[in-house]
Amino acid sequence: MLAFDPMDAHLYSVRMHASLDNRHLSGAERLVGGEGVEEAAASLVRRALNHAQGRAESIRLSVDLVDPDQVHFGCLPDVHTFDAPDVEAGREKALQLLLLAEVSEDAVRSAMEHFVAGAAPGGGNMRGAMLIGHRSGKRYEPDHAKGIRARHMDYSLTARAELDAALSEWGIGGDRLRDALILAAKVMAAPGVLAELCWSDDPDYTTGYVAAPQLGYNRIAPLKARGDARGGRAFFIDEDRWQPEVLLNHLRDEVFVADGIGRIFPPERFEQ
Ligand code: AMP
Repeated sequence: MLAFDPMDAHLYSVRMHASLDNRHLSGAERLVGGEGVEEAAASLVRRALNHAQGRAESIRLSVDLVDPDQVHFGCLPDVHTFDAPDVEAGREKALQLLLLAEVSEDAVRSAMEHFVAGAAPGGGNMRGAMLIGHRSGKRYEPDHAKGIRARHMDYSLTARAELDAALSEWGIGGDRLRDALILAAKVMAAPGVLAELCWSDDPDYTTGYVAAPQLGYNRIAPLKARGDARGGRAFFIDEDRWQPEVLLNHLRDEVFVADGIGRIFPPERFEQ
């Protein structure tokens, strides 16, 4: 278990980025007190070396001291899980949820089409997220290959333990869910973001999610077919009130620590 004491004067961000064949393979971050840096670094390296899509060829680690005044605490969203009969029904469920979050159908279809085609120029996967206008479906991120990466978020020691215990009651959990949930928690608190849609580019991971402040974190399985190596992430922004600098500062520079968990609902199976 990684150490994080909210009162620790020295909080470090430990980040890992691994690549294979010059492509992004894995990336993750931990926020830990000084005494937790070594263990965090070792666990991130272990993760890069044991990636399901192959052993990393190059692993970069960075360790940076974080300004304690920049740290914001918050709670995790509620977690819902929907099991759909097929991909089409899963995507329809995602659309319905996003409509409830005030995102237009055009904007949702635009995001999904980019995921399916490969949202980076040339049809590859992006490193970060698209910023999609909630009404027009237009893309606003300046670099279509890099996208916008959210960083500097982690769980407090207690929140991590509580989350793992609560998720395991329903037989769910793992690094992927933990990473996506903390990212979504930070993104949902971002000024100007209405909702988020994600499905992984890992061909073996078909569960995706929709997150929005009033809807919580909604896991939907499947959102893509097994074997499909395309995926992506879209942050839907309110075109009437978002402010690029404020949003990017929140996503990239503010430090978010979840110190409480939300409710975890039992998986729900539905037919179309
Ligand atoms: P993953 O769920 O890790 O397979 O990532 C799915 C997609 O989400 C990737 O292809 C990226 O486009 C995007 N993504 C991954 N990590 C981040 C991040 N920290 N911030 C924003 N977007 C990300």
